[in-house]
Amino acid sequence: MSRGLIVLDPGHGACGNQYPIMPGTYEGTQNFRLAVHLKAELEARGFEVCLTRNQVEDDPSLEQRGRMAGERGAILFLSLHSNAPGSATPPERYSLVRGSEAYYSLADEERNAQLARALNQAVVQTMHTEDRGVKTRSYPDQPGVDYYGVLRHSAASGCKTALLIEHGFHTNPDDAAFLSNEDCLARLAAAEADVLDRML
Ligand SMILES: [Zn+2]
Repeated sequence: MSRGLIVLDPGHGACGNQYPIMPGTYEGTQNFRLAVHLKAELEARGFEVCLTRNQVEDDPSLEQRGRMAGERGAILFLSLHSNAPGSATPPERYSLVRGSEAYYSLADEERNAQLARALNQAVVQTMHTEDRGVKTRSYPDQPGVDYYGVLRHSAASGCKTALLIEHGFHTNPDDAAFLSNEDCLARLAAAEADVLDRML
């Protein structure tokens, strides 16, 4: 018997966010590769898994991605990304910023925070990168409403266990070297699946 459905959301489309130091490598493609590994690892642990993108070229809207979780009765919505510094970062610091962080939905703060902490810890240890912690972000003047569209639409559709992991910075040479390596992505997926195996 299935342990429940997990919706994995590899962020962006095939050519979303090129790695600045690795022309031809894209966040959207690497997110998809990580999701394929994670799907296999979770299925091996008894979960049912579906991806918001059937193929690497797909790029559904944030609403379509998030709503898939509630509409299909998922026990978890997990969005997979890597990060880049904001525009306030000075150019000389741009490639130095690294580390993993996880955002969680405000719809079920206590449980989501626990899951986010455990997953982020696993990512930090596997990538040997910095720990930027777990966070929430709400709409300005709308406390309790998630800023990130995929989390907001997942929660609104009924799946309140909704997380988004920024797996390091694809703008940093060390994080990017890890994220562009297939074996590293496979190890990352196994580490995350172990956490979910233990906590769900
Ligand atoms: Zn992203």
